[in-house]
Amino acid sequence: MSSAAASVLRIGMFGGSFDPPHRAHVALAAAAVRQLQLDALYIVPTGVAWHKARALSAAADRLAMTRLAFAGMQRVVVDERELQRDGPSFTIDTLEALQAENPGAQLYLIIGKDQLAALQTWHRWQDIVRVAIICIANRGDSARAEAGFDCQIELLNPLVPLQLPLMPVSATDIRRQIASGSLTSQSLARLVPEAVARYIESHRLYLLA
Ligand code: ATP
Repeated sequence: MSSAAASVLRIGMFGGSFDPPHRAHVALAAAAVRQLQLDALYIVPTGVAWHKARALSAAADRLAMTRLAFAGMQRVVVDERELQRDGPSFTIDTLEALQAENPGAQLYLIIGKDQLAALQTWHRWQDIVRVAIICIANRGDSARAEAGFDCQIELLNPLVPLQLPLMPVSATDIRRQIASGSLTSQSLARLVPEAVARYIESHRLYLLA
């Protein structure tokens, strides 16, 4: 690698509703930092999830849990800009802001495979694939695992698969199991980081379906 190439900053973005953040999110972030040799990975909780049918939990709770989930991880920054922005949270707006803050940096967008299929419905998706290299994690939950990307334009950068073990966990399942009373404290702490489990219990989140 030339010294010019070596000096290009590598900035990742990993967005989500994080309602709640779970162990697959944390494993995915760690794999991305390691494999892509990121200088920084921005974890970006969604403000208004225009693409999800369900209303999200309070932004303050999701932000607090996200901070707890990713606390202490090197090169990982929890970024609240989408929670503060009015209107729908569009990924391209955040990517363009990150690009403006880090001129010349190479951007990486980290998503699970279920989001890959949806990518072509995202606002200005053609610009997303132009400004960022798309990095994909397979999902272990079978309903969402088989999603493809049928791209009509030639991608500037090929998709990058992230190497990490399949993890059959989703926030939807966690919320459902809490609401149905089928999760013990111990089993909740196997699905989400322990500090997040304590937060969910002390704030009595997700008790109503
Ligand atoms: P929900 O069930 O509420 O839709 P989720 O578990 O999919 O939530 P999100 O916060 O919506 O979590 O996801 C943020 C990102 O993490 C998305 O790109 C999603 O594809 C990815 N992701 C979530 N769970 C997994 C998993 N088990 N394996 C790989 N990627 C995942």
